[in-house]
Amino acid sequence: NIDNCSDLTGLSEEDIAKRKSLGYEEKSPLEDDKCDNCQLYLPPTEKRKCGGCQLFKGPVNADAYCTYWAPRVE
Ligand code: SF4
Repeated sequence: NIDNCSDLTGLSEEDIAKRKSLGYEEKSPLEDDKCDNCQLYLPPTEKRKCGGCQLFKGPVNADAYCTYWAPRVE
């Protein structure tokens, strides 16, 4: 649903397929690697409640993960 940023309503089949092909999971199976500390993560903003990812469209959970995870360079 909308509250946990997993609502894919409005996304094209292509966009949904893209996130699947990257192995996106709502909840990271790894303790330390998650979108929240990924280099490609786009944190929520005032206008956008959910985070995003530079690799595909649509909402991204801070606790999620995909196989393209890369450590953020501070
Ligand atoms: Fe999350 Fe993967 Fe995007 Fe990184 S690349 S922010 S792990 S979905």
